[in-house]
Amino acid sequence: MKLDVNALRYLTKDDFRVLTAVEMGMRNHEIVPAELVDRIAGLKHGGTYKVLRNLLKNKLVHHDATKYDGYRLTYLGYDFLAIKTLVNRGVFASVGRQIGVGKESDIFEVATEDGTVLAMKLHRLGRTSFRAVKSKRDYLRHRRSFNWLYLSRLAALKEFAFMKALGDHGFPVPTAVDCNRHCVIMSLVQGYPLVQVKELQNPDDVFDTILGLIVRLAEHGLIHCDFNEFNIMIDDDEKITVIDFPQMVSVSHRNAQMFFDRDIECIYKFFNKRFNLTSEENEEQDGSESDGEGNSRPSFLSVKKAAGSLDKELAASGFTRKEQVEMEKYIDEDAEGHDSGSDDDDEVGDAVPIDSLKIDRDHSDEPDCTLASRDSGVPGTFSEEHGTSCSG
Ligand code: ADP
Ligand code: MG
Repeated sequence: MKLDVNALRYLTKDDFRVLTAVEMGMRNHEIVPAELVDRIAGLKHGGTYKVLRNLLKNKLVHHDATKYDGYRLTYLGYDFLAIKTLVNRGVFASVGRQIGVGKESDIFEVATEDGTVLAMKLHRLGRTSFRAVKSKRDYLRHRRSFNWLYLSRLAALKEFAFMKALGDHGFPVPTAVDCNRHCVIMSLVQGYPLVQVKELQNPDDVFDTILGLIVRLAEHGLIHCDFNEFNIMIDDDEKITVIDFPQMVSVSHRNAQMFFDRDIECIYKFFNKRFNLTSEENEEQDGSESDGEGNSRPSFLSVKKAAGSLDKELAASGFTRKEQVEMEKYIDEDAEGHDSGSDDDDEVGDAVPIDSLKIDRDHSDEPDCTLASRDSGVPGTFSEEHGTSCSG
């Protein structure tokens, strides 16, 4: 499926109204019957049906008649809703080239009205591991709203909340700008992922800085859980920026020690292999779990003793306890199975570059409708709440 943002320019208000209606319907329906879409959208003279055909042609919705006849959003449709909302809010004005393909995300450059370039991360849970999760334990059977859109929205909400809190506490992370649905807008980090760097001027310093960050995070009550060469950006001055936070957990998580040790181990391994950085414990045997005896590696237990409560602050702010628990369920499953490889599906967009595009701002008073905000919505009504806005 091609991610063609050009189509966004030609979509009318009615198109967005119907697209939003499909999204609303998906709060309570995996597949939304056309009649329900029509009822929510409230277009005159059967306009909804014509619009649905247009949305289908543009691959913004998927038609499904397996169980019963209806529609669901595609990732592209969800992308368009988020992009449109953020453009209307004045967060950015155009979408540029793709700069990253993560395990479960696509990252693009976007530009503001005054030309500032930012990074847009579109979460794509379901592209890799969610499929494996689904086959292991069918969440969808028990939890209607627990689907890929919901998980992606949760991942974005969490990432935004954590990025903001970490930035406020002086951690080197991108500046969190805004988020909507599954989309996070942040400052563009200069530099490259550490995995692409073959040589460093001061590998020891960089190594110490990175280990120090893992420890300082834990001292604040948090563990990154995916702290590795893919999620550390480094610039020409060898300044570090940490990215990618949806999987972070509190030091009081039941597997916290394992996650902490794994983060540390990843860094040791990488620096050993890539920069030949050896330390006594590294020379002992590669990949072995250390028992902490006579070991100079940061120890989780001593760090935990001094741990602050950023984790609790976060739980009290943008990201609720319930959401944290749901994400952690997902993380736990993910940690068991890890990548199952990406297999394609029409609802999961392929990563293709998108053309530079100026998007018109629309000052209409369209409600900022959201998928599966806190509690499931009532079908047939527009919600005025701004559940996906993380800035409020
Ligand atoms: P995932 O969760 O899918 O792994 P990441 O947040 O790690 O996604 O981003 C994937 C890639 O996109 C990164 O390795 C990096 O190259 C690029 N990237 C992500 N965020 C930014 C940013 N703020 N500035 C510049 N590049 C970024
Ligand atoms: Mg990553």
